[in-house]
Amino acid sequence: MGLVVLKFGGTSVGDVERIKNTANRILEEKKKGHKVVVVVSAMGKTTDQLVALSKELSSYPSKREMDMLLSTGEQVTIALLSMALAEKGHSAISFTGWQAGILTENIHSNARIIDIDPNKIKKYLAEEQIVIVAGFQGATENGEITTLGRGGSDTTAVALAAALAADKCIIYTDVTGVFTSDPRYIPGARKLEAISYDEMLELANLGAGVLHARAVEFAKNHQIPLEVCSSLVKESGTVIEEEIAVEKSLIVRGVAFEGAITRITVFGLKNGYNNLSSIFNKLARRNINVDIIIQNLTVGEDTYLSFSIKNDDLRETIDILEQYQEALGFDHFEYESDLAKVSIIGSGMISNPGVAAKMFDILAKNNIQIKMVSTSEIKVSTVIEENHMIEASRILHTAFELDSVGQKIK
Ligand code: ASP
Ligand code: MG
Repeated sequence: MGLVVLKFGGTSVGDVERIKNTANRILEEKKKGHKVVVVVSAMGKTTDQLVALSKELSSYPSKREMDMLLSTGEQVTIALLSMALAEKGHSAISFTGWQAGILTENIHSNARIIDIDPNKIKKYLAEEQIVIVAGFQGATENGEITTLGRGGSDTTAVALAAALAADKCIIYTDVTGVFTSDPRYIPGARKLEAISYDEMLELANLGAGVLHARAVEFAKNHQIPLEVCSSLVKESGTVIEEEIAVEKSLIVRGVAFEGAITRITVFGLKNGYNNLSSIFNKLARRNINVDIIIQNLTVGEDTYLSFSIKNDDLRETIDILEQYQEALGFDHFEYESDLAKVSIIGSGMISNPGVAAKMFDILAKNNIQIKMVSTSEIKVSTVIEENHMIEASRILHTAFELDSVGQKIK
């Protein structure tokens, strides 16, 4: 007997039938004698629909009002799921993020959880109720509703698991686990039995949509074993934990890709170092995530700098650069949109030199031009043209022996 946190994504609660199915899944866990906390996403594509609705009214709606709007999606699901459970004869109670004691920093649309007061949830668990919490949301100290960034319900689940010292946290989703790459686009992609926190973190950060990156970060920091599995198909999923034993032989464990990236190049940056930090401070203050940074070279006193951002942040970045051009002391800037990042990930890289060289070689042989590169101990990322993204990922998946055909496991 223990405490489990179960998270169900949008597809698992996409309509009334799915909600009933999810209620059955929850009751199976409850019948094992566990105390059960459930975190849910908005139904199906609700969040996208709410975003689309807002865009009909305004191209750049206030982030505060967006949070107010988007947080309603999850609120619908928690109430319906609670009713479904009651209908099946089990008492359940639903809470929004703030009711559940989730305190976040004072940032709209991408807030981090800073604290959780678990007492209310504990009180209802002690009464053997199933507690259902709206994912993806919290509130600031001043009672402002915030959201945790797209896909943030995973983070709600893991953060609650940590705050409640849960025995396990299971993320039910619409795929059967974590794959070597996205099976919708990469035909040879296959499910991994296990993956380490660090590899998963890289995968999540690099655009593998299966888990919210902050959820993995939280799980690693609190050593919470996670399992990702399907809510519809009954088969074992992927376990995410510190040390993994299986498939040690794989140097590369996954290929991730992400489109809609823009490269900005700033020319003739004077007084390199000071102005470099000023640029990134200004962007950070507006919450613009800069990914790969390359300080090309310094010629005389001028530095040439490139960095990548999401296409969505382009307009704000241009505003900032234009507004502060004089203060930042640069000549001009250029940008190239519709780029993509393709990355290979695997802990085995640490002890195997030449992995990056092999990747560049493969891309070059296929006439795919690399525009930017970044590496860590366990990943190599390249920025290429978006129209080559899937092709490059497929070629790399095969070249690094990840395709299911002919793949020996262990
Ligand atoms: N409903 C939110 C989204 O679609 C949060 C989540 O599902 O995790 O991004
Ligand atoms: Mg998700």
